[in-house]
Amino acid sequence: MLGFLFPCEGDANLDNSTNIQDIVLIVNHIVSELELIDDSFDNSDINNDGTIDILDIVSIANIILYNDDNQCIPIIDITYNIDESLPIDWIIEFYAIMSNLSGLIPAYQNYFENLTVYAWNSSVEDPYPGIEGGTYIGGSGEGFNMVLEINQMEFEWNHMHRYSVIAHEYFHVYQLSINQPMNEPNGGYNPNTFSIKWLIEGAATTFESMYVQNYYDYNYFINDLAYIDLSNNIHTNPSIFEDYSSNNLDMNYSCSVFMVLVLAKELMDLGYSEESAFKMIFQEFMLTGAKNSNWENYFLETFGFSVDEFYTSLQSYSLNLQNVVPSSSLSLQQIFD
Ligand SMILES: [Zn+2]
Repeated sequence: MLGFLFPCEGDANLDNSTNIQDIVLIVNHIVSELELIDDSFDNSDINNDGTIDILDIVSIANIILYNDDNQCIPIIDITYNIDESLPIDWIIEFYAIMSNLSGLIPAYQNYFENLTVYAWNSSVEDPYPGIEGGTYIGGSGEGFNMVLEINQMEFEWNHMHRYSVIAHEYFHVYQLSINQPMNEPNGGYNPNTFSIKWLIEGAATTFESMYVQNYYDYNYFINDLAYIDLSNNIHTNPSIFEDYSSNNLDMNYSCSVFMVLVLAKELMDLGYSEESAFKMIFQEFMLTGAKNSNWENYFLETFGFSVDEFYTSLQSYSLNLQNVVPSSSLSLQQIFD
């Protein structure tokens, strides 16, 4: 599918579509009559091997031949409603974080076009009619909402969560942009959506923790998650964490995070690098289009072991998050490169 993750694959002349004119430019590059640089180069180096050659031309010819629509896919449009009840330094930091996030994990219009952000300080009445308070992604494929009602106390205590929550919620936007089933309605069991909680929330909270480690040198895993007692259900009945009804046993998603971190450890035991392990969890698995009715097949296909085998392997890890936290030097940039 053209556009997927590589929104302008083959678009050497940067006109937002891929066609024969791009091949002409690339041939000129190969015979050294014209050098492609920057985005032109990146779009043309389809196999990412650092050179543009006949292999890339073959791939681009296939794109032109086998895709109906060779238009590039734009980035999701974001509309901001940032209430004046928020401290100015938070607002400034918010825009900086959104800019970092759209560089790290840009969300493209694969399945939906618009995102509307509503942010306010919990000290005031909900200021946007029809928008309920809390921190969540709501709405539907018509256009999603990112709601950030930041607890007043987080400003008083300078709590890292006032920033990390932005990364958490934006990560859900990214997940929605790469996994079509997540765009289907959930609430109640829907086989056609994807709502396996420990994978969705465990990944979002792990991403959030890595974000503040990378940008603020703050270890959210250790400072904010590791003190929570992990439910023994991780050993005895881990499938309960597939459902959001287990939230009362999964404070701040600590159990879901633990399961995601063990999954990364298991992948590293198989020889994958730490970066690759998290890329598989954050991105590759979601890109399979896994949904509730078939996610176990895609889990096996992506990770090389079954969900049941993974659940059994959890028993060999003591229920202490500290034992499975990722390296503090792990960089999101490297994971998503
Ligand atoms: Zn979440």
